[in-house]
Amino acid sequence: ELPNILISACLLGNPVRYDGTDLFIDHPLIKKWLDQDRLIAVCPEVEGGMPVPRAPAEIQTGDGKLVLSGKSCVVDVEGEDVTNSFIRGALKSLKMALDNDCVAAILTEHSPSCGSNRIYDGSFTKTKRDGVGVTTSMLEQNHIPVFNQEQLEDLQVYLESGDWQD
Ligand code: SF4
Repeated sequence: ELPNILISACLLGNPVRYDGTDLFIDHPLIKKWLDQDRLIAVCPEVEGGMPVPRAPAEIQTGDGKLVLSGKSCVVDVEGEDVTNSFIRGALKSLKMALDNDCVAAILTEHSPSCGSNRIYDGSFTKTKRDGVGVTTSMLEQNHIPVFNQEQLEDLQVYLESGDWQD
């Protein structure tokens, strides 16, 4: 049986980003995995109870790991602390991954929920720093590797390697 993959809903064309847009990726691997019915779409921020559109938010210090350990917070551009919504969304996303036997995730780079290499630095000046989002950190802590939308071939290699069966 082919393993399932969790994916950021915005990458499949769902207009759930803070500004009501999507980030649809037209890629043969995505099309193949969709045709095989293996993609489980989730938007952690919507799952966390946040509306569309919503004020953009950034992790203030460090990254998602620090947020999950209670040492940092997520604040939106209007100054509202939205940490609890982000953590709730991460927990629901993890539950969806586990309930659906997902062996990996494809999440949107740079997002405070979904980023896996670089995220915005909390200053709302479009500046990025190294780090992972809150949901990415939650998945990685539970041994579900996260790939971004530029790493689909890497994910294909991982799936074909069978390493996820260990
Ligand atoms: Fe996309 Fe993730 Fe942002 Fe939702 S939280 S809009 S899935 S990047």
